[in-house]
Amino acid sequence: MESHDNFAYLLPFIFLAFGCSFLFTQRWGIASGLYWGLGYIAAAFGFCAPLLLVALSREAQAVISNVFFFAAFFFYGQALLHRFGLGRSLFALRLSIAVLAQAVVTYLIVEKHDLRSELISSDMACALLLFLPLLQVRDQIRRPIDRLLAGMVGLVVAETIVRFSSLLLSTFGDGYVSLDQFLSSDYAFVMQVGASVLGFLLALTVLGTMMLDVIGQHRHAAEYDPLTDLLNRRGFERAVPDFRKGSFPSGAVLVCDIDLFKQVNDGFGHAAGDAVIVGLAKVLTELLPSGAVVTRFGGEEFVAFIPGVSLADAGIMANIVRVSFAEKGWDETGILSQTTASFGVSSTGPNDHSVHDAICRADVCLYAAKAGGRNQVVLEGQLAPTRPPQLRVVSVA
Ligand code: GH3
Ligand code: MG
Ligand code: MG
Repeated sequence: MESHDNFAYLLPFIFLAFGCSFLFTQRWGIASGLYWGLGYIAAAFGFCAPLLLVALSREAQAVISNVFFFAAFFFYGQALLHRFGLGRSLFALRLSIAVLAQAVVTYLIVEKHDLRSELISSDMACALLLFLPLLQVRDQIRRPIDRLLAGMVGLVVAETIVRFSSLLLSTFGDGYVSLDQFLSSDYAFVMQVGASVLGFLLALTVLGTMMLDVIGQHRHAAEYDPLTDLLNRRGFERAVPDFRKGSFPSGAVLVCDIDLFKQVNDGFGHAAGDAVIVGLAKVLTELLPSGAVVTRFGGEEFVAFIPGVSLADAGIMANIVRVSFAEKGWDETGILSQTTASFGVSSTGPNDHSVHDAICRADVCLYAAKAGGRNQVVLEGQLAPTRPPQLRVVSVA
């Protein structure tokens, strides 16, 4: 019995420590930390209610424990939904289940003194409070860490179902065990250990997901541009194939720059300028192939690496982007004039040491497009500095 008692004292502290840690993770911008924290703290109080409330009757202890456990499972479910961006999903239904379950178990404890039905209905409600959110998030599970988290939550649900099913079957027809008999039985102890170990493993998984989420957030902030959500220069370096390693990555590089953008900023304001930058980013991502690495290199200049595409095809793509951007209306931003962009296109060559060699050549083409009157595409190899009219490749198709 002594080890049982030590265990009973230790567990709430472990859950409380996890709960407080989860609450702390809100400082790192993890919103679900609030709900995991509240859930684990509620579970800690649920486990230690019999220890804290020794002065109260067993019935009162059981009623109060149930309040904490329903709260814990409600918050676990809320945390799971929140993590997958479904925070408000089935909120009223889940709250109603928790409140109704509490009313039922209170009636069973206080009026009926029916421990068996109370334990079964309590576990059924807890399983349901976690199973419904798990069902809701199933389509959002994509990364391995999501699968691990959903798997652990699924195990907790399964363990709860096994617990009430085995109690239901083992006591079926034999009359009910008494409150004292049940609470001091090895069966109850094993069930408590099982639930605690799973709760502990779930907490470790949650911590793991939080750490990976924080790392992911920082990596995203480091490698993506906050205005357009395109890769930035650092992200581009990581995303393009390394020319020094293995096979040579063939493809095309497209560089573009918005024409006379200072006039947009000066004439219509910085916010309008931002909208134009976002507009070109959208046109590029929508019209270039899905495998293209589209990057905001800085200011209103964009670079895209399009793997496996010839120079001529990349020229056609650049021209489609050019036309689409030039035809865009900007009424809602207050910009009255037409806004255009110029493009330089090159293809990677076997003598390139890195993609930057191809970018340099595309940059020269871009410069030629600007010099040639803007709103045009210039392809590598079509540069003829001595004959300026040939710089203009307005329609490549
Ligand atoms: P050109 O046709 O020769 O490219 O002329 P331009 O006026 O576009 O010249 P340039 O490319 O040098 O202009 C860049 C301008 O872009 C200057 C800078 O104020 C503005 N800019 C850079 N980053 C941002 C941004 O994030 N938002 C806004 N609104 N403007 C930006
Ligand atoms: Mg410009
Ligand atoms: Mg520029």
